[in-house]
Amino acid sequence: FTSYVNAHVFLFYPLLTVTLLDSMSALADLGWEAYPNEGWEEISVMDERNTPMRTYQVCNVMEANQNNWLRTRHISREGAQRVYIEIKFTLRDCNSLPGVPGTCKETFNMYYYESNNANLWFIKESQYMKIDTIAADESFTQVDVGDRVLKLNTEVRDISNLSKKGFYLAFQDLGACIALVSVRVFYKKCPLTVLNLAQFPDTITGGDTALVEVHGVCVNASEEFEAPKMYCSADGGWLVPIGRCVCKPGFEENKDVCQPCRPGTYKASATDAYCTKCPLHSSSPQEQAVECLCEKGFYRAETDPRSMACTRPPSAPENPISTVNETCVTLEWSPPRDTGGRGDITYSLHCRKCFGDGKKCTPCGSSVHFIPRQFGLMSATVLVTDLQPDSNYSFTVESQNGVSDLSPIPRGTVVINVTTSQTVSVVLKERRSKDSVTLAWQGPERPNGAIVEYEVIYYEKNQREQNYTVLKTRSNMMTVDGLKPGTTYVFRVRARTDGGYGSYAPGEIELETSHEDVLAIGDPNQSTILAVSIAGGIVLLIFLVTCFVVSGRHCGYIKAKQDPDEEKMQFQHGRVKLPGSRTYIHPHTYEDPNQAVRDFAKEIDASNIRIERVIGAGEFGEVCSGRLRVQGKREIYVAIKSLKAGYSDKQRRDFLSEASIMGQFDHPNIIRLEGVVTRCKPVMIITEFMENGSLDTFLKKHDGQFTVIQLVGMLRGIASGMKYLSDMSYVHRDLAARNILVNSNLVCKVSDFGLSRVLEDDPEAAYTTRGGKIPIRWTAPEAIAYRKFTSASDVWSYGIVMWEVISYGERPYWEMSNQDVIKAIDEGYRLPAPMDCPVVLHQLMLDCWEKGRSDRPKFGQIVTILDKLIRNPASLRDLANSSAWEDPSTPEFSVSTVDEWLEAIKMGQYKDNFSSSGYVSLDSILYISISELSKMGVTLAGHQKKILSSVQSLQTQGTHVQV
Ligand code: AMP
Repeated sequence: FTSYVNAHVFLFYPLLTVTLLDSMSALADLGWEAYPNEGWEEISVMDERNTPMRTYQVCNVMEANQNNWLRTRHISREGAQRVYIEIKFTLRDCNSLPGVPGTCKETFNMYYYESNNANLWFIKESQYMKIDTIAADESFTQVDVGDRVLKLNTEVRDISNLSKKGFYLAFQDLGACIALVSVRVFYKKCPLTVLNLAQFPDTITGGDTALVEVHGVCVNASEEFEAPKMYCSADGGWLVPIGRCVCKPGFEENKDVCQPCRPGTYKASATDAYCTKCPLHSSSPQEQAVECLCEKGFYRAETDPRSMACTRPPSAPENPISTVNETCVTLEWSPPRDTGGRGDITYSLHCRKCFGDGKKCTPCGSSVHFIPRQFGLMSATVLVTDLQPDSNYSFTVESQNGVSDLSPIPRGTVVINVTTSQTVSVVLKERRSKDSVTLAWQGPERPNGAIVEYEVIYYEKNQREQNYTVLKTRSNMMTVDGLKPGTTYVFRVRARTDGGYGSYAPGEIELETSHEDVLAIGDPNQSTILAVSIAGGIVLLIFLVTCFVVSGRHCGYIKAKQDPDEEKMQFQHGRVKLPGSRTYIHPHTYEDPNQAVRDFAKEIDASNIRIERVIGAGEFGEVCSGRLRVQGKREIYVAIKSLKAGYSDKQRRDFLSEASIMGQFDHPNIIRLEGVVTRCKPVMIITEFMENGSLDTFLKKHDGQFTVIQLVGMLRGIASGMKYLSDMSYVHRDLAARNILVNSNLVCKVSDFGLSRVLEDDPEAAYTTRGGKIPIRWTAPEAIAYRKFTSASDVWSYGIVMWEVISYGERPYWEMSNQDVIKAIDEGYRLPAPMDCPVVLHQLMLDCWEKGRSDRPKFGQIVTILDKLIRNPASLRDLANSSAWEDPSTPEFSVSTVDEWLEAIKMGQYKDNFSSSGYVSLDSILYISISELSKMGVTLAGHQKKILSSVQSLQTQGTHVQV
């Protein structure tokens, strides 16, 4: 395409001429007219090759007044406007002729006469137009034809602007001695040519100086891009090419032709220069492809460029989690594992409300609202509001991308079932005394998971803002004491399950304490029975009365005492005033450790256990998964730890101590003990099964795949479990991601409660100078130095777990030695923020790693902080500055190749993707974009972020990569 813009280029081609007359090639008489008779005469001579030549000669030099004419036959001009006449002749020098009179001439004249008539027998002299007087360049002194010495003159003249069919030529001799050896009449053409894929025909030149404008015709399989045009000049050359043709889609240019694209290649547009290889997941089995066809199961969206790889619909969203808050639920999930090769994943939700046993469901209708929206969600989370309390909902989250509509395969979906039925439906206030009130209630009919606890809020009527108290209990009744006599209080009750808080029971319960110390049971005027269906109320009343009368033990709140399961927190302006809780009992306080096991762990009949597969190795033997049939319930999945044969008594005690510790806990974030098998061998501990295994391995496996909210959700769970343990005065001593288990809903639970575990079980534990074996990297300095293990040292470990979680299972302090870690901590160094860590989270880690243990936050405070972050995700947007990585403990690698760089940032799995996309030098990656990463197959958002932020640091810091 270079020449057409160059509009003033002159092109040179071999000249093409067309002969109209050539006397030399005439086989017979030329048949020209000569008059008068004694003038020109036709003479045949032999040329040097002995071929006969027809010449016309005249040589009447001795006589004066010569006027001899020789006229050709009619010469058809064949459309030419300008013709050329080339004559070859010899002319005798007058001086060389002895005795010739002064009338001797050395020139002759040439004329023409235009005519449509080819058979004129006479043309008047005056009708001729003179072409020229011809003189010889070379004359000769002797006519010596016999010697074959012919000095030929050649002269060319032209006639232009011819318009009639043809013309006659005439030669006038006025007394010279001439031999006209050859007369050739011809015209010139611009030759057929192909330029810029346009063919220009051979073209007869114009008359005079005019250029002939010629339009080109596109060659086969090409089309006009801009009308092709050239000019044929008078002398037969092509000038000033303009415009061009381009090969049609499916064809590419090769020299002056368009040839079809080979199989496996395609050309979509006429303006593309060449056929290109079919993009990924497509092929073109035939020649001449204008696009490549997608492989089975892959598609191309209408707006996708033909050069883009074919893609497919995404797989289903994963790891759904729901958090119910009264009549709202936050739904979250992870992006599909397979994005189908596209970056335009969106999610849509379908909401159905279910009845009865959940089999009958109807669409939710427009009363339910989705924030930010229901369809076409870009992020993997949505808040659903305005659900009805006491209801089951089934949400289907559907993932789709730009080609989902083209695929017959149903969309990838994940279903999240949610129950909002946590309203405590019936509240009966019952006993009142001068300083206490007893309340009882009925739990939700269909709770959303096991009920973890009930929350009772109360405050003096009209004083809510100033002072309210929150009480928690796991039983269905509570005695609130320490109240003022003769004062009206307002009470509200709600339930909490694994899935979150339910709504408060409808309405507020107002109760006045008595002025006297009397018991009032079910006083019809005072007892506020709210939302009680009459029948339900009667049943409950009977239940309550039975409780009071028959079971003094469980309903021992007659003495206005707090239930042992209750936790009490008084809030003044929202701050905790008085915590109180149950305490954990160390199995060693039992004289007979077996008694501890009997007290805290349920004996399970081994015949109800089905062991299925080995999933890990514990200190005392294998850990298996299997099923447990619980009487009256369906089978549940369990983990089974067994004590290997040949154990000592002490080993058996230590093994079972884990069960007697675990059995005392009941919290959604603490691994639940189902029971033990001690009556037959092998001795076993049965716990709930955690499908995703230990947290450290799980995170490494899913590097970069969770949203920060999901990570914070996991951390919140762990903190909540630890709060529960610390409230029970249990110090864990070995809190680490490897000792957290994860279930299929991403719920994290604290595990590993054995007595000997910190000493023996944990491969991370190392002997300290004082002889104890301690997991150095996770342990607070005071615990390492003088074995001061407290909940505050657990908080330090929790900070390390936070770091492990945000860095997806990175080893704390990397490969530094234990000694170096102790030294660095002592000198004040702390782990820097992991990649993409929100500032607030790193700050919380740093708070957990305060040197002074009383300066560290309590687990309760950590839970509150994390809850706030979850409610306000915007607070997580500020990422910790990566300059925090300037910590001297941070390893820094100098890299010189793309492979080294990818290895250094732990993205080595993408080496091939980079090299096959042409990124082979470090320079080449400096300006790589997200879309390029997606194109080359790096589709996980986390990995893209990791790579791009490392690229940024390469831009600013050169080849030093912090990992
Ligand atoms: P432990 O002896 O408790 O450290 O358990 C050893 C390994 O067995 C753990 O790292 C887990 O991978 C696995 N494991 C233990 N308990 C469970 C459980 N309840 N559910 C699933 N896997 C478990």
